[in-house]
Order: sequence, then C-alpha cells, then structure tokens
Amino acid sequence: MADGVSHRRFLDLGWGIALPVSFWFSGLMYIQGYNYWFSLIFCIWNYWLCRLIDPDLDLLGASTAESTGMKILRKIPIIGWILVASWMAYTTFYAGIIYSLGGHRSIASHSLIIGTIGRMIFFNIPFWLFIYWERLRTGNVWNFREVYSDWRMDIWLYPYYFSQFLMLSIGDAIHLLLDTEMVKGILYQPKKNNEEVKDFKPKWGNFVDMILRMVFAYSWNKIHKIFRKQVKK
Ligand SMILES: [Zn+2]
Repeated sequence: MADGVSHRRFLDLGWGIALPVSFWFSGLMYIQGYNYWFSLIFCIWNYWLCRLIDPDLDLLGASTAESTGMKILRKIPIIGWILVASWMAYTTFYAGIIYSLGGHRSIASHSLIIGTIGRMIFFNIPFWLFIYWERLRTGNVWNFREVYSDWRMDIWLYPYYFSQFLMLSIGDAIHLLLDTEMVKGILYQPKKNNEEVKDFKPKWGNFVDMILRMVFAYSWNKIHKIFRKQVKK
C-alpha cells in the first residue's frame, strides 16, 4: 500500500505512457473524422486530472489527490475557498457512496473499468449540470437532441469521453499496481524508511527502470524469496 508521495511520483512518470497513447489515440480519432488537436488536448487534460481524481478519494479523510485539488482551488481569487469547501464536500460524498458499496480499496473504487467508469460518472455530474444549466432553469431538460446540437457535441463528446476513459485508466492502473503487495519494497519503500522514496526523482533512466520493474515485479519477488531461502540455509 504505497503512500501518497509514491503514488504521485509514479503518476508523473506515467506521462511516459500517457503521452505516446495520447498521440496514438488522437491519430485514431483523426482517422474517424475528429479534430486531432482537440483529442490531444483532451488526453493531456484528462491525464492531468488523474492527480485530482484518483481511487483514494474513497477515503473519508483528505487524501493526496484531495489536498492537491484544495491547493489549486484556494489560489482562485474570491470564490477560492467556496470551491475548496465544495470540492471537499463533493469528494466526501464520493467516499460516502463507496463506503456504502464496500469501503476503501473495494472493487467499487479500486478496480479497472468499474472503478474508473464510476468516477467518470460521478465527477462529470458538475460538468453536465453546467451544460444543462440554462435548460434546468427553463424546465426544457429532456430535449437531448437540441442540447447535443447547441453544444456542438458532434465535435467533442466522443473524443472527450474516450480520452477520459483511456487516461483515467492509465492513472488507475498505476495506482492499483502500487497498491498491490507485490511491488512493496520494489517500486517504493514502505513508510518506515521513506528516505529512498524521497530520493527517487523522475528521470528517463528511472522511467525505463520502472517499466522493467513493472514487468518483472512478480518474478523479482519470487527470485528474491528463493534467494533469501538459500541464504538462510
Ligand atoms: Zn489506493
């Protein structure tokens, strides 16, 4: 169970995966007739969002992602603290829902697809409220076709959602990997001696190292165990 600092560090290293995937995805969207740059911007924005929207928002206390959001929001003049309070309330609401569905690190939050899509639905609600705001006031909510054409969703809806799913999945995959027992002491040092984690700075050499470790984490653990047994003998 990696701490917030390690999670964040590996999320930063994850750009090494997220960026090539973004270029590939944008190319794919381009072939289908969507704007290349729109898709690329969506990808970058959505991967950046991983530092705010992560599986540990299922904690009732403030997690690293929660405090990152607070730090950014409180810089906004005048309404900053109102936004901080709303963000805290909203993430606590999410934690409450997950708590009733199984709690911290349950499938509801800590899983690919289910956890990712769950967060996508929950954290897009304010976005949709914004889009439907005018219609909520006038009461004409159900004319989806009109809203669709008013907001030119034919241009952005598809790339927006797919890029979000892809990018949050990458972030979540990194998070889930760090939460497993098998990478403990390999990708990060447990909290007691946190010094090595602090010395670990994202560099390209480290990135290659991380990929190798991700691939071989399981077998490394095994080899290590066998080796230790040999030494004991
Ligand atoms: Zn976690």
